Amino acid sequence: MNNDDIETLREDAFRHMFLPFRPASWYREPGHLKFIVKGEGVRVTDTEGKTYLDGAAGWQFGAVGHGRIEIGDAIRNQIKDLAIVAPEFANIPATKLAKKLAEIMLGNLTKVAFCNSGSEAVETAMKIAKQYHVLNGNPTRNKVITRRGSYAGWTWGCMSVGGVYRQLFSYFEPMVPVALRVSPPYCYRCDFGLSYPACELQCVREIERVIQNEGPENISAVLGEPISHSNYVAIPPNEYWPEVRSICDKYGILLINDEVITGFGRTGKWFGCQNWSYSPDIISFAKGMSSGYIPAGGAATTAEIADKVESGPFMGLVSFPTWGGNPVSSAGVLANIAIIERENLVENSARMGKYFLDSLRDTLSRYTIVGDIRGIGLLIGIELVADRKTKTHFDPELNIVYKIFEKMESKGLLARDFESTIILTPPLCITKTDLDEMTSILDGVVGELASEVGK
Ligand code: PLP
Repeated sequence: MNNDDIETLREDAFRHMFLPFRPASWYREPGHLKFIVKGEGVRVTDTEGKTYLDGAAGWQFGAVGHGRIEIGDAIRNQIKDLAIVAPEFANIPATKLAKKLAEIMLGNLTKVAFCNSGSEAVETAMKIAKQYHVLNGNPTRNKVITRRGSYAGWTWGCMSVGGVYRQLFSYFEPMVPVALRVSPPYCYRCDFGLSYPACELQCVREIERVIQNEGPENISAVLGEPISHSNYVAIPPNEYWPEVRSICDKYGILLINDEVITGFGRTGKWFGCQNWSYSPDIISFAKGMSSGYIPAGGAATTAEIADKVESGPFMGLVSFPTWGGNPVSSAGVLANIAIIERENLVENSARMGKYFLDSLRDTLSRYTIVGDIRGIGLLIGIELVADRKTKTHFDPELNIVYKIFEKMESKGLLARDFESTIILTPPLCITKTDLDEMTSILDGVVGELASEVGK
């Protein structure tokens, strides 16, 4: 593709598409709007022919990596038989997929409602909880306890319970009045100024206080990602989720885990919650479910909750997306799961994640601008600080994160950030050689930055 063609494409994109996530003016600056045209394994290539290691698996969706033709074949073969059917007819791929999901999820989450994205999955999970309570004789259970810093999606309901991007979401006020926000289990910067274990898990105690203040009869669910990407990959203490589970049980509140990022092997287990011994009542999932080859999402719950939800007079669960669980996306998801199973990618995530975490710690800890490196499986965060002892943030004027991303991209590495935390979530099929390359790029980038800021 020649330069004129690329410039025409850029102009077309500016003129005809809303470009997400960054200011429109940012995209217009030279070099900012890139077209990625090729993906192979853990690498992608742009129109200028530059190749990048996909250290974020896109937006954390690519479990199996790029270029898996067999997913396309499964989709194509399904289209030959049947592309779509009205949702009140069952279809065979969705039924096989629902059974497969019941097998790989925790033993008791056996019934799924399909949809098309992570946001819809979280909405569906919250609706299952609400419908359950109403049909169980508790119509006032309206509110959802969520954590500050958590991201739940871009639909109105998800923005309402989200704990991040509040200044952006304020365009859409009034929100759905359901959220009660509590502290995240972010031990590196504890909201209570305490240290684990002396803190006695004040972040959990806060949940119970909120329940008591608001009245348990008004609370539907506690919602949270098992490990939160947008809370800087804060790994909760081991007791956190089991204790939240007990509090939910004590007050008749449902526990929803948002597994949109942590599902399908990201943390070295099929689902993030499986890292601890408790089980949620409902989980939402998307991203790694299809590795991004086709839109797909879902929320799953227990037979007991599903029975109550289905006891209503007119229909079962009041959630009926036209495309949810369609034959084509289900066939694609089944093929994606088959690759994860055949190549043992969940185990690979655990093994490679540990290897990566260790080598990042060995290599980057010598830079005092690296405050903390934490992770689980292939979900890893590197938090940068101006001062390691006091954990002071860099002056925002220095634009540290922007600088680091420019440097990484120029050296051929894509990653994500939340404020000053660099987040790495490569495809689960990554090898030690690829990880060594990522560590070496990060070594160069962090080293350059440290000398630029005089550390
Ligand atoms: N929940 C979490 C934890 C997410 O990270 C995201 C997206 O990044 C969502 C929900 C929303 O997913 P989607 O963008 O597919 O709607």
